[in-house]
Amino acid sequence: MSKVRKILLNENEIPEQWYNIQADMPNPLLPPLHPGTQQPIGPEDLAPLFPMELIKQEVSKEAWIDIPEEVRDVYKIWRPTPMIRAYNLEKKLDTPAKIYYKFEGTSPSGSHKPNTAVPQAYYNKQEGVKRITTETGAGQWGSALSFACNLFDIDLEVYMVKISYHHKPYRKVMMNSWGAKVHPSPTDLTEAGRKVLADNPDSPGSLGIAISEAVERAATNGDTKYALGSVLNHVLMHQTIIGLEAVKQMEKAGDFPDVVIAPFGGGSNFAGLAFPFLRYNLLEGKNVRCLASEPASCPKLTKGDFRYDFGDMVGMTPLIPMYTLGHNFVPAPVHAGGLRYHGAGAVVSQLLKDDLIEAQALHQLECFEAGITFAKAEGIIPAPEATHAIASAIREANQAKEEGKSRTILFNLCGHGNFDMQAYADYFDGKLQDHHFTDDELRANLKTLDTPEIK
Ligand SMILES: *Cc1c(COP(=O)(O)O)cnc(C)c1O
Repeated sequence: MSKVRKILLNENEIPEQWYNIQADMPNPLLPPLHPGTQQPIGPEDLAPLFPMELIKQEVSKEAWIDIPEEVRDVYKIWRPTPMIRAYNLEKKLDTPAKIYYKFEGTSPSGSHKPNTAVPQAYYNKQEGVKRITTETGAGQWGSALSFACNLFDIDLEVYMVKISYHHKPYRKVMMNSWGAKVHPSPTDLTEAGRKVLADNPDSPGSLGIAISEAVERAATNGDTKYALGSVLNHVLMHQTIIGLEAVKQMEKAGDFPDVVIAPFGGGSNFAGLAFPFLRYNLLEGKNVRCLASEPASCPKLTKGDFRYDFGDMVGMTPLIPMYTLGHNFVPAPVHAGGLRYHGAGAVVSQLLKDDLIEAQALHQLECFEAGITFAKAEGIIPAPEATHAIASAIREANQAKEEGKSRTILFNLCGHGNFDMQAYADYFDGKLQDHHFTDDELRANLKTLDTPEIK
């Protein structure tokens, strides 16, 4: 019998609901707090920034939330995505493990981000929103939202960190192609931006500044809302479309994973793949290991504190209960731009606190090496973020070999790296290095926080 390499689903097998793990968590989330009063916030506090349906999803305890027909129709442009058995990689590693990957790089913008960009644009449209603002660092989120806003005829204003704006010109052109306006941040369009420019006219910008600019624009314009590409509960939930498809695909393959792995920035693609499998642990006594792979240069899950912290660097967002390195933490400029975030979403943080998921920190040289091994074996050049999951999967496969036992590994190839050739060029030129810092340095930064601790 010939080997099945791609495990595919039909369009009519696209899941009809997202999975909301808040319904099944043994310990509920602690409430988000107002940044000024530090009191729990209600839906009305978020209303200036987000449409009501997304606010409802943010706090919902319903296990299953219907995916609107219009959203499923757009998903059909690239979903269902393939799940692929990495036979060549298995052979190269000479491992008894079975390795599968779910490939999210087939989306129009090349990553998993449109899975949430599309419903976010849809709900904004339903509620009469004319314009959305957002920030983007590496450009993945900005391009996904540009694609989605164009489809629902919403104007989009993207505040792109100035240094990325100049380093990644093609990401900007991509956003322009879908009709978005892209501003190199800091700009003189906002108070926040003007203040930064007054202090430092040559500021390269930062994600923190870009968030502040985008939030200010939305908060001060009645017809404008704001959208975020990770961290928030509703964003993580939209991404479960990945894992729900993967559960069906595993069933088709007659298999079930021992370990599910995904790279970790704020938690959305990890949650997306892992939560539908974690559900089997919570409700049906299974024992799938769910492993988040984070960069050693930004190790919030393995080295951070579980406490309240701001979502942005400036301190404008609600305080979220999260694993964090401190909102003022500035990660080293590693190429996995999407993973350079100081904190983790509240849901993933609570699950880690409760020992229901695992985390591992990896240095970038090991990751790029894994990325090249993967590209040579399987053909696809992975996004630098995705190489973290590949490196963890290779470690698992090598461990299986040492033990002489099989193991079924599933990882998220959450994006292709076709726009990240500069990162690969730097790797080949020997310009990349691993960044080391001490636990004392991390502790010292955490000590400067004056946000509420969690007992
Ligand atoms: C944004 C991004 C990430 C990190 O964000 P998560 O919310 O943790 O998924 C990882 N990989 C890619 C390709 C991204 O675009």
